[in-house]
Amino acid sequence: MPIEVRLTDHTTDPIRTLYTAFRVCYSAFTPAQIEARIEDERITHDQMREFVEARLATGHTSPLQQVWFEFGISGVSRAFSHQFVRHHMGISFEQQSQRYVTYKDGSFPYTVPDSIRRAGKSEAFEQAIETAGRAYQELIDAGVPAEDARFLLPNATSTNFKVSVNYLELLHIADQRLCTRAQWEFRKVVSLMRAEVKRRFPELARYMQPKCGEFRLGYCDESYADWEACPIGRKRPHKTTLFELYARSQQGQLDELRDNDYQVIESEQLSESEPY
Ligand SMILES: Cc1cc2nc3c(=O)[nH]c(=O)nc-3n(C[C@H](O)[C@H](O)[C@H](O)COP(=O)(O)OP(=O)(O)OC[C@H]3O[C@@H](n4cnc5c(N)ncnc54)[C@H](O)[C@@H]3O)c2cc1C
Repeated sequence: MPIEVRLTDHTTDPIRTLYTAFRVCYSAFTPAQIEARIEDERITHDQMREFVEARLATGHTSPLQQVWFEFGISGVSRAFSHQFVRHHMGISFEQQSQRYVTYKDGSFPYTVPDSIRRAGKSEAFEQAIETAGRAYQELIDAGVPAEDARFLLPNATSTNFKVSVNYLELLHIADQRLCTRAQWEFRKVVSLMRAEVKRRFPELARYMQPKCGEFRLGYCDESYADWEACPIGRKRPHKTTLFELYARSQQGQLDELRDNDYQVIESEQLSESEPY
């Protein structure tokens, strides 16, 4: 069953909501006065966007909790869903129940990971699923309630979600789950969530990056071995590089600025100065 992700609803105008939330903090105007200035277009949408983008570069993050997105997510495995529901701040889930939904004829949708296909083990995998399905049906036929028969269902079983998440948590989930250390299915789901937000709000989707992204930490905070193994690791410095730089600076070991550097600084036309 293919994974499907749809942005089903969202804060009406996230840029306006973010603008108002930030503005209230920094302005002598009341919220009503701020809204009135937006209504009569003394503040344009472009001005709001520019203001919001400047604030998004800061650590003032609570206004991001005022913007929410709703997603419909289907065709994901129970292996994924166990990980998904570990996120618990600023996110609400509704998940298809294996108590109230009884599978018919021992047949249920499931995911076969590509690694299993590549290993040539699809057939063995599918046979194991069918065996579990038959045993499940046997229990149902014997009058065992679905809530107990489901103990036989594998992690591969598909499930569906309706999720509501605020923008702050969405960025945090992207930080963790677009990182190449995250599981492939989670990376795929968050990539699809990002694509959905990008369709409607590209200016907000660009902050949905792995934590090493240029709009997020900008460096890798995982272990050095993981950084070395990461296919995009070389695009980012590892945190130890930053710490080494800091330690060298504390120990007075940074390269000295020399006379020729000051000549560069003094020269009127920087571009005409000697390259070094
Ligand atoms: C690569 C990877 C591997 C993982 N492996 C494992 C594993 O082997 N076993 C396992 O059990 N889990 C594992 N996890 C799950 C992980 O430990 C977290 O439970 C999960 O990522 C949810 O993230 P979060 O704690 O940031 O929660 P969120 O709900 O997303 O929280 C958002 C932020 O809110 C704050 N916050 C959340 N809860 C609290 C709190 N109680 N008190 C104070 N502040 C809080 C924190 O700043 C947190 O970052 C893994 C996650 C990743 C990304």
